[in-house]
Amino acid sequence: MSTSPFDLFAIDRLLTDEEREMRDVVRTFVERRIKPEVGDWFDTGQLPARELALELGELGVLGMHLEGYGCAGTSAVAYGLACTELEAGDSGIRSLVSVQGSLAMFAIHHFGSEEHKQQWLPEMAAGRSIGCFGLTEPDFGSNPAGMRTTARRDGDDWVLNGSKMWITNGSIADVAVVWARTDDGIRGFVVPTDTPGFSANDIHKKLSLRASVTSELVLQDVRLPADAMLPHAKGLRGPLSCLNEARFGIAFGTVGAGRDCLEAAISYSVDRVQFDRPIAGYQLTQKKLADMTLEVGKSMLLALHLGRLKDEHVLTAEQVSLGKLNNVRTALETARTCRGILGGNGITLEYPVIRHMNNLESVVTYEGTEEMHTLVIGQALTDLPAFR
Ligand SMILES: Cc1cc2nc3c(=O)[nH]c(=O)nc-3n(C[C@H](O)[C@H](O)[C@H](O)COP(=O)(O)OP(=O)(O)OC[C@H]3O[C@@H](n4cnc5c(N)ncnc54)[C@H](O)[C@@H]3O)c2cc1C
Repeated sequence: MSTSPFDLFAIDRLLTDEEREMRDVVRTFVERRIKPEVGDWFDTGQLPARELALELGELGVLGMHLEGYGCAGTSAVAYGLACTELEAGDSGIRSLVSVQGSLAMFAIHHFGSEEHKQQWLPEMAAGRSIGCFGLTEPDFGSNPAGMRTTARRDGDDWVLNGSKMWITNGSIADVAVVWARTDDGIRGFVVPTDTPGFSANDIHKKLSLRASVTSELVLQDVRLPADAMLPHAKGLRGPLSCLNEARFGIAFGTVGAGRDCLEAAISYSVDRVQFDRPIAGYQLTQKKLADMTLEVGKSMLLALHLGRLKDEHVLTAEQVSLGKLNNVRTALETARTCRGILGGNGITLEYPVIRHMNNLESVVTYEGTEEMHTLVIGQALTDLPAFR
């Protein structure tokens, strides 16, 4: 009887009953609802996002780590474990949940007025309203400080102009949290997407995160009332703290993608016979499986450690960078190795591996590229910023 990778690490012993229970509920949902269909969603580039948002709302994972306003108020670890299971399904589904909960809802929850929270959070937690988060611009990705989108005062109103690029959930969103330059520095705005002058165009021909909506946002003289501004976020610290939340979810989530690839490769290699023996019986294959188990298991331990720090409110941005950098890298390398173990079958959507592999090429770029997180850690170690 073979042992699963996480069982070797006895990961379950590190979780509370409640955490295991919650993880199992999300795992069951992913097995039933996501895994049977996600290959087709990826193939066609069509995601039933509205339907899924309602189901994810019912599951209780949208903004689940936030308190009040219809949110579940779970621990950070519980939220992380949900991300692991969702991303074992597909990084696109985890992205939908991350952008909704950790970016759009978190921004409103932490920086919004009481009216913003009352208006949007219960609807978003239920999945009846979808949110997106517009920070990146065509010319400013790793360096959002250079953004060109502006919000200028006109009487009591704000008028927004500019464009945002690569925005997850963009064209399906009911509300966009948009970051713009004002006379008072960078500020965030809650923009209902039916406001005249707001439009979203989907980005096509993606070979990664195909089961996810990615759009360009165009803001042309978008007129908003004075109270559309998030009152409690001033400067880049606002959006960066939202990104920190989402990166935390990625550190957990990518462990799920890596685990799913590894499980597929173990199962495939035990069944696949070449030269009269299962390929899993060859030492070269076993070395790959053992090495990947070490790395995926260690990345789970790291994620859990970060989760416990977050629940104690002592997690730093640099530590989140450690998690994002290591765990995306591990998952991507795992996916590539598993792809090889599956041989020709590894390039089809009949197996999850190449889908995870291609998805992870986006995950390594968004929420801070591998290079940006390396520089964050380098600065923490040396006190010397090497960004410019
Ligand atoms: C599928 C997808 C979904 C996304 N969703 C969102 C979203 O919902 N909201 C949002 O606001 N953004 C989103 N993004 C944008 C994402 O965060 C950016 O793509 C990312 O920050 C990188 O920016 P860029 O693409 O402009 O690359 P660039 O910043 O142009 O970087 C290109 C390369 O140069 C490297 N580089 C840049 N500066 C340096 C330096 N100083 N030293 C060394 N190397 C450097 C980078 O590491 C990278 O390898 C998404 C992106 C993708 C692909």
